[in-house]
Order: sequence, then structure tokens, then C-alpha cells
Amino acid sequence: MVFENIEKRLRELDLSEDEIKELLKFDSIKYSELEVDGKKYPAWRIRHNTNLGPGKGGIRFHQNVSEDEVKSLAFWMSIKNSLAGLPFGGAKGGVKVNSKELTKEQLEKLSREYIRAFYKYLGQYTDIPAPDVNTTSEIMGWMLDEYEKLTGKKEPGMITGKPVDMGGIEFRKDSTSKGGFIMLNEFLSKVDSGKNVVIQGFGNAGSYVALMLYKNGFNIIAVSDSKGAIFNKDGLDIPKVIEEKNKTKTVTTYNANKITNKELLELDTDILILAALENQITKENVNNIKAKYIVELANGPITAEADNILYDRGIIILPDVLANSGGVVGSYFEWMQNVTGEKIEYNELEKEFEKIMKNNFNKVYNYSNENNISMRKAAYIIAIKRILEAKKEN
Ligand code: NAD
Repeated sequence: MVFENIEKRLRELDLSEDEIKELLKFDSIKYSELEVDGKKYPAWRIRHNTNLGPGKGGIRFHQNVSEDEVKSLAFWMSIKNSLAGLPFGGAKGGVKVNSKELTKEQLEKLSREYIRAFYKYLGQYTDIPAPDVNTTSEIMGWMLDEYEKLTGKKEPGMITGKPVDMGGIEFRKDSTSKGGFIMLNEFLSKVDSGKNVVIQGFGNAGSYVALMLYKNGFNIIAVSDSKGAIFNKDGLDIPKVIEEKNKTKTVTTYNANKITNKELLELDTDILILAALENQITKENVNNIKAKYIVELANGPITAEADNILYDRGIIILPDVLANSGGVVGSYFEWMQNVTGEKIEYNELEKEFEKIMKNNFNKVYNYSNENNISMRKAAYIIAIKRILEAKKEN
């Protein structure tokens, strides 16, 4: 269970019962079964808290999606959006499906069915989806097209991460990784560290950050995907690993030592980047973790129990709600251009983005140092304060 971790985390903060109750409440939980070629797939769209604005959060296609998972992801979106200073609340969607077993036609049908089931709850000022695990820009395009057919109006701002010719922006593609990369560099400018990096997950978040680090002289000693991991203590040639992954759909066919995902997490490294799924570091493996610093590009990859143990062991974590917030800031840029009709140049966005990422990182880093608490606790305190204040103003 993931959501019970969230409750545990909230109870570690200095909050009243009423405040905890407010934060554990959901605006709406919508469920449907999507039928594609005679098979049914459970699906959710869940809005957590909209004190700060419309719901915002991705849609995940994965065989382990559950209501508990989507609720947790929606909650984290509320925290992340608040922390990033955005005018959004938190929401998330998901379909329990192994999308790799579907044909392209079936994938398109499923994406359109998702919108048919939930379109009444979505909209540029209501709830705005985006990509997440196994959902691509092309899928966002199908979803927008279906939405516009059903509502009979043009509304590109109802979804982000869409193709550029449908109102998407080039900047959104790697903004999650770019945000994590900027924050990691900002962090490394304040501490001593070597350059060895291990990355779990090699999809949108993991592969782009691998490339950025590689190009900036970091030594990526291991990477993994759902099929397994590869290791080379002298550093992997990341552009070649990406080429291989594009060809064979996995990094494991690349010419390097094969290891398991479990071994990858336990490698001796300076930096460990988690860019796959939830609950990867738990009380079972936490004591074997040797990394000095951990960056959570994935949402919820460390359980609450393991998190406390890592903190006691002095392992510093750049928490998900901070480290992967570049994605939603990129989405915000896209949404803003859609709703205002104003185009902003890539270079301008890049400058603004860097400023936001550095400011947000330093806000959390300084608060955590001043109060002698983890960056995660600091991030939650700052974000929750803004959500609860917005409630008072409403
Ligand atoms: P993706 O589908 O593009 O990639 C996921 C990767 O994780 C794939 O390489 C997959 O093979 C790998 N993976 C799955 N299970 C694994 C396992 N057990 N061990 C190792 N690797 C495994 O998804 P993504 O968009 O890169 O998302 C990854 C994480 O980042 C998720 O937690 C997501 O919520 C989070 N995130 C993504 C974005 C974004 O903009 N894409 C934004 C914020 C947060």
C-alpha cells in the first residue's frame, strides 16, 4: 500500500487533526472500466485538492495501477504543484493494463476510451492530464482529439505533453529530467561528491537525465529498465545505450555486464537516481544502499520507513515532489501558452525554468538546514502551508 505511507508522513509533521483530515480528503474519485476488443481495463481519474487551482497530473498505463496508487500520485501532485508555486491542484489518472501487450490500434482505442469515460471531469480550468509511465506525447494527442470531438470545441489547454503540432511545446519533452539535473547540480555545488551515477529506470525521466549527466562529464556506471540492468565501472556510453534501447526496447541487450535491478540499487556510487516506480527502497533493502545521495525522479520510490532510516544514516535525498517538479513546470509553460495564445521562445523558457528550479531548490535546501530536517519534510511543510492558506482564502 502506498497511500498509508503518505498518512504516516503527514503524522510526522506538526499538523492538527483537522489539517491532516483536510489533506487526506479527495475532491473526486472517478472509476470506470474501459473496454477494448472485448477486454475490460479498470481506470481512474482522481482529483486530490484544488485549493490552488485546477487539478493537474499525468495518466499512467501499467499493470499494477490501483486506486491506492492513483490516490497517492494525486496527493503528491498537490504537494508538488504547491511547492513549485504553480496555480494548480493535484490530480492523477491511471489504467490497469500491460500496454506493451496491446497493438498500436488497441492502444489508441484505450486512450480514446479513457477520455470517453472521464471527459466530463476534464478541462483546461478543471483538471489537466499529462504523460506518465507508458503514456507518450502521441497518446496525449489521441486524447486531445477525442476530447475535442466529444465537446465540439478546440481546447488544447485541457492536456499537456501533447505533440507540438497540436499545441505542445518542444520544451516539455525532457523538462522532468532537466529540472532534476539543474537541482542536482545546484546541490552538488554545496557538497563534496564524486561523479559516479547509477540510474534505475530508462524511460522518459531516466534516459534524458542520463544523457544530460553524460554530456556534463558524469560517469554513469549502471542503468536499468524493467527487464534488468547493465553495469560498467568505467562508465557506460549513454548515447550508444539509448541507440540500443531504441532498437531492442531494452538496455539489457547492450554490451556490458548484466546485473539485476536489486544489485543495481545496492551498488557503491556517489549518486543514485530513481526514475522507475514506487517502493523501490524499502525496509528490506535500505541497509544495503551505499549511495551518498539519492535523487527521486520517480514518484514515491522510497517508503516512509526506509526514508527515515536513510536520513539517520546521513544519506541525503532530493525528494520527488522537488526533484521531478520540472515536468509539471514544463507543463505549466505549455498550458499558459495554450490558454493565453501567446508563444514564448525556447531560450526564454529555458532561462525562466532555470531560475524557478534553482529558487525552488534553494528554498527547500535552506529550510531543511535551518530547521535540521530532511529536504522531504521541508518540502512538505512549505507546500502544505500554501495549500492550507489557500483554503482559508477560498
Ligand atoms: P516511462 O514509462 O517513460 O519509463 C519508466 C522506466 O522505468 C522504463 O524504462 C521501465 O522499463 C522502467 N521500469 C519499470 N519497472 C522497473 C523496475 N522494476 N526496475 C527498473 N526499471 C523499471 O516513465 P517516466 O515518464 O520516465 O516515469 C518514471 C517515473 O518518473 C514515474 O514514477 C513517474 O511518475 C515519474 N515522473 C515522470 C514525469 C514525466 O514527465 N514523464 C514527471 C514527473 C515524475
